Amino acid sequence: MKIIDVKTTPLLVPYTRPYYWAQGVINGATVVLVEVHTDEGVVGYGESIGSPSPTSIAAYIQEAAKTCIGHNPFANARLMADAYQRLFQGLGTCSSPRFAGQVLAGLEMALWDVMGKATGQPVHALLGGAVRDEIHYFGFAQGESARDVAADATHLVEDGFDVIYFKVGRGDSLDLDTAKAVRDAIGPDIRMRVDPNEHWTPVQLARMARRLLPLDVEVIEQPTHCESISALAQVQRTSPIPISADQSVFTPFDAFDVCRQQAADMIVVGLHETGGLTRMSKVAHIAEAAGINVCLHGLYETGITTAASNQIAATIPNLDDANQHMTRFLEWDLVASPDLTPKNGSLPVLKAPGLGFEIDWAAVERSKQAFSQATQRL
Ligand SMILES: [Mg+2]
Repeated sequence: MKIIDVKTTPLLVPYTRPYYWAQGVINGATVVLVEVHTDEGVVGYGESIGSPSPTSIAAYIQEAAKTCIGHNPFANARLMADAYQRLFQGLGTCSSPRFAGQVLAGLEMALWDVMGKATGQPVHALLGGAVRDEIHYFGFAQGESARDVAADATHLVEDGFDVIYFKVGRGDSLDLDTAKAVRDAIGPDIRMRVDPNEHWTPVQLARMARRLLPLDVEVIEQPTHCESISALAQVQRTSPIPISADQSVFTPFDAFDVCRQQAADMIVVGLHETGGLTRMSKVAHIAEAAGINVCLHGLYETGITTAASNQIAATIPNLDDANQHMTRFLEWDLVASPDLTPKNGSLPVLKAPGLGFEIDWAAVERSKQAFSQATQRL
């Protein structure tokens, strides 16, 4: 089997409402749909995150695709290593391991989709097999005000989620008001996690952790600047609330450093950081050897990433019991089936061949037009 073509299509899926976090406001998921076509008619699908410019990301994926055309898709790991070396090491000035992960993730996912479809197996079966039947997610409460976030948290608990996560790092007073409002809304038995997205200094973390502790916050995610693992280690040693690393871990090398320095109690990481399923698995193994859990990260993504993440998550023994899920913010999904809405906070491990989903081509067309209209407005 040979790869004969790689297609890249920039898409925009609007959000149903603005998404508020410490770094600003997001209004939709901008992604690049990646299609890997083979000479045997098998087609695999994946997606890369399109920020800051989907057109540029698509151009980088096309550069990486040159390494794949004419080769067997089952040489996935070698093709991705070659693409990484050629684009991000061999050319010197492009040495950007984190950006490489974002670019290559969609292509790597699509290769796995081809491999699964060609063998009639779900991808997790090719990765050593599932060690679980379900993936559990937290309810991601969103909103501009404390009241909005608390109201959203109430709906999520009614839908069966038993862990609520929300964004902080938007100002101490708003953060504390939000945490109190959410705790009041969800009651004492629901677990609660907060994410300041790198917006707290060690001093601010100390102050906020003291105030959040009585509200029974179980994890503070990536409080300090992502580029300083030592700052994360510093707050991890002193915080009365467990700390997780998110933006500090993209590569297996980052994971090793975080684990070696005992800088986090958990690693939050996803396919768009690691560059796909193979390197996600490596990060999970390093965390497993350090005795800590991995929590699936979510970005401005569609159900394509949810399905691909589901496949790798199925194989990770040290997967956390509260992972991130992002499709609830989308006005429409690119996945026609299966339904990726968690029931009681869980999704089953997907069993269909490949990554386990069917594309909604009418939704792809709508997303193509939405991207084109947004580009014309700029
Ligand atoms: Mg985070």
